[in-house]
Amino acid sequence: MSKKRIAETFGVTQLYRMFPTEESCWQWLEAVRWNGQPVCPHCGEVEKIGNPPKSKAHHYWCRSCRKHFTATTGTVMHSRRRPLQDWLYTIYSVLTARKGVSAMQLSKELDCHYRTAWYMLHRVREACVDEDFKLRTVVEVDETYIGGKRRNMSNAKRKALAGTGRGAVGKAAVFGIRERGGNVKAMPVESTDKQTLQGAIAEHVEAGSTVYTDDHGAYEGLGDVLYTHGSVKHSLQEYVNGMCHTNGIESVWAVLKRSINGTWHHVSPKHLARYVNEAAFRLSEGNCEVDTIDRMAALVRRIADRRISLEELTADNGLSNEVVSM
Ligand SMILES: [Zn+2]
Repeated sequence: MSKKRIAETFGVTQLYRMFPTEESCWQWLEAVRWNGQPVCPHCGEVEKIGNPPKSKAHHYWCRSCRKHFTATTGTVMHSRRRPLQDWLYTIYSVLTARKGVSAMQLSKELDCHYRTAWYMLHRVREACVDEDFKLRTVVEVDETYIGGKRRNMSNAKRKALAGTGRGAVGKAAVFGIRERGGNVKAMPVESTDKQTLQGAIAEHVEAGSTVYTDDHGAYEGLGDVLYTHGSVKHSLQEYVNGMCHTNGIESVWAVLKRSINGTWHHVSPKHLARYVNEAAFRLSEGNCEVDTIDRMAALVRRIADRRISLEELTADNGLSNEVVSM
């Protein structure tokens, strides 16, 4: 048995000791984004970079395309004009707050407008998604309803819903996958029918893996080609059968629902995906082995690379903006 490494974590006092000034934030950000070698965001130049005459610190000048830039040029961290310290605090909060952070709470802590805090949080949540890998080996999958209490439904009612792909009317369905001892992926789904759920599994789980599910009809035939499939018969009150159970992914739902109930309060289907991203990211066990400062660096890089504008964040995505309560 290999012993799990204990990752280095720190409290908020230590965060401000590490980043006491904007200068310290700039130095860290430049190291994280450029590894000591400024890159022109306009043309990609790395050689002909200088400091413009009479320039402020951390301002650069590209002699190739003759434009100015800093480590935040072209990123939302630049366009919103909040101090870098506020961004680092927001990222830190999202990474460490067990039940998440609300825009209301953050706006009080940073002494900024609610809308600003909301925007910063959604930007960080957006960066929590890492689509570049598949889950593997042994995974648990399950679906849940936000706003509905499927787990509290009678078996008869659940049976009636199973396979219909409709779920509870007016509720938002979320599908989740958890690798044993590893990462979590979760996403809102339009339907919980066979095509949707098995399509999501094919997209996010490596072929050859073992997939554990409950006995929802949508998972039938999952073991036919790509996967080894085991299921527990929740409809017959069976919850664990040897290695086969879905307790891991169900604990993700428990934390997600506690975050919605206790912290976020109002979550609309339109923005649900990002809240789900945040919860899944925090619960990925792989993350527990990574030092907090390295996780902050990873998120900063992704925030810089995935530039979603306020217009994109609030654009109509076909989903309701009405809040769902639990
Ligand atoms: Zn340039």
